This record gives sequence, structure tokens and C-alpha cells, in this order.
Amino acid sequence: MNAHPIGGEDYPRTLQEFDEWFSSEKACADFLRRLRWPEGFRCPRCNGAKAWPTARGQMRCASCHRQTSAIAGTIFEGTRKPLRTWFQAMWYVTSQKSGGSALGLQRVLGLGSYQTAWVWLHKLRRAMVRPGRDRLTGDVEVDETYVGGPEVGVAGRETRTKSIVVVAAQEEGNGIGRIRLRRLPDVSASSLLPFVRDVVESGSAVHTDGWVGYNGLVASGYRHRVTNIARSGRLAHELLPRVHRIASLLKRWLLGTHQGAVSDQHLDFYLDEFTFRFNRRRSRARGLLFCRLLQQAVNVDPVPYRRIAGGNLDTNP
Ligand SMILES: [Zn+2]
Repeated sequence: MNAHPIGGEDYPRTLQEFDEWFSSEKACADFLRRLRWPEGFRCPRCNGAKAWPTARGQMRCASCHRQTSAIAGTIFEGTRKPLRTWFQAMWYVTSQKSGGSALGLQRVLGLGSYQTAWVWLHKLRRAMVRPGRDRLTGDVEVDETYVGGPEVGVAGRETRTKSIVVVAAQEEGNGIGRIRLRRLPDVSASSLLPFVRDVVESGSAVHTDGWVGYNGLVASGYRHRVTNIARSGRLAHELLPRVHRIASLLKRWLLGTHQGAVSDQHLDFYLDEFTFRFNRRRSRARGLLFCRLLQQAVNVDPVPYRRIAGGNLDTNP
């Protein structure tokens, strides 16, 4: 009954189906095991293929008796909460068009603390970036934008500094293909060029404004299309319309879903979530998003809580 194939066309389509698929802790653990070892279990010590699940949900190798946890090396590593609660959290995050806030997640799952919900969301965001994902190709707009800063209703002295975010948006006719975002310390060539090299396939045409930080693109193996704002007599958002559209959607999302309560230190996680959602915006099947997220959650390195919280806390919810 619970031998669901993974990905493809088969995924839970409704909350009811989700509940049926993952009705128990065992169903979640079985599913996770199949994701973790799609070709069948292999012992990390002796490479043996024969193993039995233990009562505590681990796999015990038949030849060397080593016990291996299916959640070791995933974002669930070290958790004290049921896997089922994690699955519900992932369903919550992927089934809502704009994602969820920590407060929303805490309410829906009945989590005891806001802090747990907040850390979970950050761990999930971390899983939203697929390791080794492919680079953008074709014609790509690249430009920087500034996120954050003084907010309405905040006393003047409490202004925050703005964060610099660089945006790459693939052109797709008049529309936008896939995007990549990154927070940068500054807009120098030594910040901008590594970003482009990481996210855009060499040989692609990169479209920027006349900023000097982009001068090295041709030497880096790109075709470089420069539109000079001053000389064109047009407004910035008309020259790089895709990047400016992304920037305004990003700001609206940060202000709307998260009330702008995003510190520079944690912005990267939010950029990951925004990118994940945007690049899958045409996928009407939320259940498919859930499966992608789950798949990626078992493939990323676990993020120690200490690192997420910036070293202030050392519990592992
Ligand atoms: Zn073994």
C-alpha cells in the first residue's frame, strides 16, 4: 500500500492523499529510505547490501552489524520531532503559493515554540537549492538591487542597512525563464564576476548596464551586451525589465509574507526559497513541489542549528 514510486507522475495531489500516503511514522521512514537508497540499501562501512530495519528506524547491516540512520546527512539529522511532523511542515510550505512564515507554521503544526518553527523553515529553505543544479543559458539579464532598509512605521534611528542582491534572469521571449539570486558584500568585479561564472553557462550572452564591475565578462568567456542607461535616455526598468520585475516581486514577498523581518545575515535563506518558488511557479501541482523538496532535503548536508542561528543557540529542535 505504501510502495509509492517517487517523483514522476505520482505524488499526493490533495491534503487527503498526503495524509493517506504518510499516515504513520513508519510510512514516512519507509518513504525516506527509498529516497535515500533508490537502488537499495548499501552499508557505508562494508558496502553490504543486506540489512534489516531496526525498531528505531535504522538499518542494521547483515555482515558488519553497523547501524545506519536514514536521516544522517539529511536536514532531518538530529531531530527529536517525528518525521511525520517534518513532512507536514514541507507540505505546508509547498502547498501555499507564497510559502509560509514561522508563525504560520507554528500555528498549523501546533509546535511549542516559535523558535523551532523558525529553524525548521530555515532548514527547509536550505534544501530548496538543489546541489549541483545546472546553470542559466542563452540570454541572461544581470543587475543588482538593494533589499531592506528603513521601514514605514520604524523610528528613524532604527533603520537597517540595505543588502545588495544580484539577480540573474534568463530571457524567454518577452518573459522570464529561470532565475538565480545572491547576496553580495559589494558590487565590485570580484563579487559580480564569480556570481556570473557560478550561475551562467559560459558562452551565453549576458545583458547588463554599463557598470564597470561587469567589464571582465568577455574575458570570462561570455558575450556581453551592454545597455547604457544615460545614453539610451530610458529608465533602468525598461532596459533590464526582467531583473527589475524579479526585484520588485522579491521585495513584495519579503514585506508581505515575512513583514520585512529579514536580517541581512539570514537573507540568503530567503533568496533560496524565493528562487525555488519562482523557478517552479508554473507547476500547478503542489504535491510535485513537495516531492522535489523532500528529495532535496535528503540530498543536502545537514545545517547545524548553531550555524543557522548565528552561534547564539545550541539546541537542536
Ligand atoms: Zn556493513
